[in-house]
Amino acid sequence: MQTVPWKEDVGRAAGLADGATYIAPVPGPEDARIWFFTRKGGVSEAPYESLNVSTLVGDESEAVTENLSRIKTVMGERPSAWVRQVAGDGVVGVEGPGLAGEGDALLTGVRGFALVVAIADCVPVALVGEGIVGMVHSGWRGTLSGISGKAARGMGGEVRAYIGPGIRGCCYEISEELADRFTGRFGTGVVSGRYLSLPEAIRRDLEQAGVGEVYDLGLCTGCRRDLFYSHRKEGPKTGRNLAALALR
Ligand SMILES: [Zn+2]
Repeated sequence: MQTVPWKEDVGRAAGLADGATYIAPVPGPEDARIWFFTRKGGVSEAPYESLNVSTLVGDESEAVTENLSRIKTVMGERPSAWVRQVAGDGVVGVEGPGLAGEGDALLTGVRGFALVVAIADCVPVALVGEGIVGMVHSGWRGTLSGISGKAARGMGGEVRAYIGPGIRGCCYEISEELADRFTGRFGTGVVSGRYLSLPEAIRRDLEQAGVGEVYDLGLCTGCRRDLFYSHRKEGPKTGRNLAALALR
């Protein structure tokens, strides 16, 4: 697995003093756009400051609406397709924007809109194939059930994977029982003591699924609370980051 450099970019909308800030891999894929949005450049107030995208965590809905509008501007006014995330292994094929049902991964071969997931420590995984893209929300349950590999297999052909910001071995202490389950599923090396690296488990899952190129941004949401929300470090009253992907 390669750690890919990344850059922080501010999507400045016309007439706005600032805009939604995102992280993108450098170099990124030529045939898709990836935006791992940070918590910067929105209007939500503490403890949701500032680019929170969820109305389910106690934030003001007007602020979330403005934040989503700023994000859409950055994405070239592309609308979004999303799922009701249930921490499972459901992969949903999508033909257009809007709510696409229940699941934790979206695939599409259609241009003109973005696939999005909402994240706070779980790992967003952007998959880029041949005329098809996939976006995965991979928490510990989804990772253990192999959702990233399942999504990649559903795409067929050559797939490149970009593992976005998520909680890593430096910050993610789990129970001994769960540590044993991860070691049993993915081998030693995904857990150190009782600290789990979700990105490492996801990498192994993707490689088992035949994904040849796996890039990891190497960013930990627990360590970088200046950039990202962290459910583990900040508790339930925090925001959600948006991760987005679209065919060019
Ligand atoms: Zn960390």
